[in-house]
Amino acid sequence: METVKSIQMEVIPEPRPGTASVLVYAHKGKHVIIKGASDHNYLCGSCQNVICEKVALGQISNVVFKCPNCGAFNRVRGTGAV
Ligand SMILES: [Zn+2]
Repeated sequence: METVKSIQMEVIPEPRPGTASVLVYAHKGKHVIIKGASDHNYLCGSCQNVICEKVALGQISNVVFKCPNCGAFNRVRGTGAV
């Protein structure tokens, strides 16, 4: 009934300590870090792992995600998180 859109995040270099909010998941593997009940999936720009599942567009901002699967640092495009 609903269509979930997938959005690839932008892979960035590891932010210097104190320059960005980095969310790191404690377990390694294909894990979802944030789960919501909306209609957008945010994917790791490197390995396509779903990092944010069913979140609202614009809900995620100013946060950098460390992909639990491949270790790449990701941000949502255009948020100016770093
Ligand atoms: Zn990844």
